[in-house]
Amino acid sequence: MNFPFVDAHADTIERLYSEKLDFGGDSSLHLDLPRLFGYRAQVFSIWTSPEWTRERALFHSLQMISLFSRVRREKKIRLLLEKKDLDDPSFGAILSLEGASPLVDDPELMEVFFELGVRMVSLTWNERNPFADGLDAALIPEGLTDKGRELVKKMRELGVVLDLSHIAEPGFWDAVGLHPGPLAVSHANAHALCPHPRNLKDEQLEAIAASGGVVGICFAPRFLATGGGDIDDVVRHVDYLREKIGVSCIGLGSDFDGITSTPPGLPDPSGLPLLFDKLSQRGYSEAELRAIAGENWIRLFREVWKAQGISKS
Ligand SMILES: [Zn+2]
Repeated sequence: MNFPFVDAHADTIERLYSEKLDFGGDSSLHLDLPRLFGYRAQVFSIWTSPEWTRERALFHSLQMISLFSRVRREKKIRLLLEKKDLDDPSFGAILSLEGASPLVDDPELMEVFFELGVRMVSLTWNERNPFADGLDAALIPEGLTDKGRELVKKMRELGVVLDLSHIAEPGFWDAVGLHPGPLAVSHANAHALCPHPRNLKDEQLEAIAASGGVVGICFAPRFLATGGGDIDDVVRHVDYLREKIGVSCIGLGSDFDGITSTPPGLPDPSGLPLLFDKLSQRGYSEAELRAIAGENWIRLFREVWKAQGISKS
């Protein structure tokens, strides 16, 4: 079964940048333009290495945004920026930051990234940065810093989606207390089925649901099942989330091009129709499948984004 898919997380830009690949068609990528046929939207994240200084992270993030602007112009890809852009069902790209390290240590720089088109941000990747602690096992994690709180406030003012993927639990709960929602977790699964630290415990899933938010099911094999999962494990996680938090809180967050291996049955977007066939066979209605495929993410973006994306004063 095929639907207009919306995927809340892929690292394709970083691969285009570091490996100099061709978005017009490159079989070493998980996502390229031909394979996004039939998609409604793809969130492309800007990932920066914790091994870089934050000033280098800023530099590289600007270079990646610049490269992607060139690709978009050449391939005539729309960038989705404001509510009304979501009314047009033709394909559009959404920019996100995976970790706020490119802001160096200044929440005010969120203004600049907003002007560059960034509409979703996670506070950190796995490392500690001036805003929050990630899931790096070497850390004794703390909650949001004052600058992290300021950044969350700034994102709310601007209408930027707060993505709680990768953040350590104390920061997760600080953000839940600080932000009325809807909150996003762009790519993670259920901890109850696969106890990887990147997955969400039941009370975290419930907090995202209570905020009116969405969790993007992630295809990373080691977040699907201990020892590595396949397409049937994706179905198991969707089933579990349906039972725990309901269909309206489930979306896709593949992590294509961020994961080194893909689950058997889901090598790239060509596996999605089979995934939705399997869900249909388990009794999901067409309306439920459409919601999971993309409509839940569209609803969340509509609620968080402003009527007018780019300031024009
Ligand atoms: Zn990630």
